[in-house]
Amino acid sequence: MNFRSVPSQCLPNQRGNSTTLIIIGGGPAGVAILFYLSLFSEKLRGMTIVLFERKSVVGPGSPHGDPSDCLLVNMVLAAHTVHPFNPLHFVNWLYLKYGWTSDDPVPRKWFGQYLSECHLEAVERLRSNGVAVEIIFKEVVSLQQGQPEGQITVHSSDGLSFLADFLVLALGHQQPAIPTELFSKEINHV
Ligand SMILES: Cc1cc2nc3c(=O)[nH]c(=O)nc-3n(C[C@H](O)[C@H](O)[C@H](O)COP(=O)(O)OP(=O)(O)OC[C@H]3O[C@@H](n4cnc5c(N)ncnc54)[C@H](O)[C@@H]3O)c2cc1C
Repeated sequence: MNFRSVPSQCLPNQRGNSTTLIIIGGGPAGVAILFYLSLFSEKLRGMTIVLFERKSVVGPGSPHGDPSDCLLVNMVLAAHTVHPFNPLHFVNWLYLKYGWTSDDPVPRKWFGQYLSECHLEAVERLRSNGVAVEIIFKEVVSLQQGQPEGQITVHSSDGLSFLADFLVLALGHQQPAIPTELFSKEINHV
């Protein structure tokens, strides 16, 4: 993402005076935030939450979308949860979904499915309590801070702009790769 200052543009999605929170990234961190907020949705009535995800699905993020059964979760299952008050949330989901009762590692894609379902549950809970939630499957390409009046303008890859009162960056990290510097002629080794 480019954090340079960008020229101001029209703001087609500005919504009245409602407080807007924008979350960029719909991986585990983005879903965890959405889920957490949904547990307090009655206090957020009237607010707008917009989540941007550049992939076509919210939940799996980087490591939990691989369709293979061989890639396993490497965390203790009882600690793997997006529910802030229920450490066994994922364990219970595993039992209901797959009849899984063991402590053995499970495929990462199952955790991805769990995250996707948690995201849907959170969106439903928020909306049913009067919070406007929009999931936008676009990449955010730049941010502009402080215009107007301390808000942040978020620019998506399709050229649209959105105003945020609060912004959460849940971008994860880049895919592992050999640093490009190691390919330069001066260094000449890997
Ligand atoms: C190959 C691999 C294996 C891993 N295995 C494990 C593991 O077994 N256990 C573990 O705990 N951790 C593992 N990790 C670490 C893992 O990245 C984190 O646990 C977890 O994915 C972090 O979640 P996140 O939401 O912060 O980031 P991510 O999972 O990276 O999610 C970020 C999301 O933001 C989206 N996004 C990013 N930039 C933008 C943008 N500009 N606009 C719109 N959307 C955007 C991405 O598409 C992505 O969906 C692994 C990481 C990798 C790369």
